Amino acid sequence: PGTLYLVGTPIGNLGDLSPRAKSILKNVSRIACEDTRRSGQLLKIIKSEVPLLSYHKHNFKSRQSQLLEILERGGSLALISDAGLPGINDPGEELVHAARSNSYEVICIPGPCAATTALVISGLPSERFCFEGFLPKKQSLRKKRLEDISQEQRTTVIYESPHQLIKLLEDLSISCGKERPIQIARELTKRYEESIGKTIEEVTKYFITNKPKGEFTIVLGGNNNKQQNKVSESEALNKLNTLINQGE
Ligand code: SAM
Repeated sequence: PGTLYLVGTPIGNLGDLSPRAKSILKNVSRIACEDTRRSGQLLKIIKSEVPLLSYHKHNFKSRQSQLLEILERGGSLALISDAGLPGINDPGEELVHAARSNSYEVICIPGPCAATTALVISGLPSERFCFEGFLPKKQSLRKKRLEDISQEQRTTVIYESPHQLIKLLEDLSISCGKERPIQIARELTKRYEESIGKTIEEVTKYFITNKPKGEFTIVLGGNNNKQQNKVSESEALNKLNTLINQGE
């Protein structure tokens, strides 16, 4: 049986396509991609003649059996997305699951990912973090998600489109408070790359005067409510004292 390769492609800077990614994209039997025109341009640049097959959120269910058949026949298949790492807020998860269920080999050729790139330059704690992707648009789901995010102690990474950015900042300001630390990465790896912080209030002011343009990844500091911790610590101490007294 064949191998499924998940190949990371640049999130803006072509120089980030690894030599190993190039070699795989030139030597597999087929490449599944979101947008054949967009990925066609990438293949042209690296002089790959491997045929492309579209695989995106509207056809992934119907395409799956065709892609698995390639692996069944012993062919190798690469999966790429429009940008970044397939499977991270891009198609991939279901195909990998199906490939694993059929015991085909799955290998990732790692490449850039906007979430981790924004996280490591944010200056916010990166030892433990959460990834939220895009928040739900539906009001009830969104409200619940914002509530969960406001309580989260780990740094949270969020994706947002430019025309929804200010709305997201307003929602975060309500749920997390305007003083919460935040760092927003814009146009990572591209010519006009920028990183804007430090509190929700400050970045909101910035984007009200500088209309958001390009691609954005939001890195939000965790809930660091020392008051809450103190309460639970004193509660724990009280319990301990009660136990000690009971033992005496
Ligand atoms: N799979 C991709 C990855 O690994 O980064 C993410 C795909 S997701 C559909 C696209 C979102 O990622 C954009 O709307 C934006 O929030 C974020 N993004 C992608 N490229 C970016 C860049 N160069 N700078 C900042 N954010 C970016």
